Amino acid sequence: MEISKPHAALLSSPGMGHLIPVLELSKRLVTHHDFTVTVFVVSCHMSQAESQVIQSSISPKLFDIVQLPPVDTTHLVDANATVVTHIAVMMREARPAIRSAISSMNPRPTALIVDLFGTESLPIAEEHGLLKYVYIPSNAWFLALTVHVPFLDREVEGEYVDQIEPLRIPGCRAVRPEDVVRMGKEIPTSDGPLTLAAFRDETLLGRFTKTPVYPIGPLTRPLSGSRSELFDWLDKQPSESVIFVSFGSGGSLSYKQMTELAWGLELSQHRFIWVVRPPTKTAADDTFFTAGTASGDDDPSTYLPDGFLTRTKNKGLLVPIWAPQVEVLSHPSVGGFLSHCGWNSTLESVANGVPMIVWPLYSEQKMNSTLLAEELGVAVRPKELPSKKVVGREEIEKMVRQIIEDKEGKNATRARVKELKYSAEKALSKGGSSYNALSRLAQQITDLHATTESEALR
Ligand code: UDP
Repeated sequence: MEISKPHAALLSSPGMGHLIPVLELSKRLVTHHDFTVTVFVVSCHMSQAESQVIQSSISPKLFDIVQLPPVDTTHLVDANATVVTHIAVMMREARPAIRSAISSMNPRPTALIVDLFGTESLPIAEEHGLLKYVYIPSNAWFLALTVHVPFLDREVEGEYVDQIEPLRIPGCRAVRPEDVVRMGKEIPTSDGPLTLAAFRDETLLGRFTKTPVYPIGPLTRPLSGSRSELFDWLDKQPSESVIFVSFGSGGSLSYKQMTELAWGLELSQHRFIWVVRPPTKTAADDTFFTAGTASGDDDPSTYLPDGFLTRTKNKGLLVPIWAPQVEVLSHPSVGGFLSHCGWNSTLESVANGVPMIVWPLYSEQKMNSTLLAEELGVAVRPKELPSKKVVGREEIEKMVRQIIEDKEGKNATRARVKELKYSAEKALSKGGSSYNALSRLAQQITDLHATTESEALR
């Protein structure tokens, strides 16, 4: 009988920001560790952008992608509920489909790897005797906060966001209450070695979790090789002169904020590419479910300041709805990224050595932006969170100048992000810390697979 490869099933929650890292981890498991991989995707409806990302991941075909039946949450979730609530409910409702998909797999996978929203499916792995892991494509600080939440729940009265004092996490920088989002409690039940400093500290072990942590990132998408007119324009611009403005797969701004941003870009007199979406009236994340689809009145001249398009026609380029972000960030003319700080965007910026202006809109983006600006020094940030207050044109102008004009490393932001890019490359290359961490995880799965296989042969 032929010896089969170890098989891992990965579960992606809805949204590009969740799908991309799952696909990248799958590729690594197949190409570096010779695994068989099946990816289960939960979604409400596939956006055009999601379909494209899936298509590019299956040609050449490295692994199977199984789209689970769409989950309708309309009768379960309040219309005004946040994106996070929608995703959590969808993942909960998808459990019967996930269970039946895993039960009918033959041969069964050896491990189930879920993302942060998939933790309620960990018991399904247990039912089927699979190893189980939670994949958190984010930073260690966010993970520390996430697993510390059960303790905070006991210690903090009322809502975290209403606290005045920073929230203390053992061994880590304290978290500003306004940067916090709701977290799950299931992570400590997974099989994942404690390697991060805070998690290694003996005195903190009990407070955190005995669950092992494998730091395997940063995993980012490779270049797709697509070329469009956008690149003809970029090719003509001087090196590191263009600021790229984009708010992820679904972020959008209010009308007032768009007006200030347009003026800020114009006043800076620097070159820009701006991925524009029609403004929202309410919360920043309202457009999540329309991401990647042009809807309604998306002619920018109807919502940008009068004359803006004409005045900036030699300096700037507007791209409606969606741009090939990884390719843009890797272009030598791009010198800065004004970003909502989703973790994929953050990694893509660092992987290309591009300093950032942080513009967090929702969920863990606020912690990411604090990490980038205050801890790593690879970004500048507005004085007040954009989700709280409209950022004015003068401040935007100043931040753009600071990032683009930082040529001699006066503020050293550009120099620091280039160092970080270098360490990321080193960590991921053969023998690097992330490469080795993923090898240890792969070995755990391979060992169980070998045991199961030899028992079956007896
Ligand atoms: N993205 C893109 N073009 C766009 C907007 C987003 O290619 O116009 C990609 C981006 O490169 C990143 C992902 O979509 O890989 C967004 O993920 P992220 O975690 O940054 O943010 P989210 O969309 O989850 O808020």
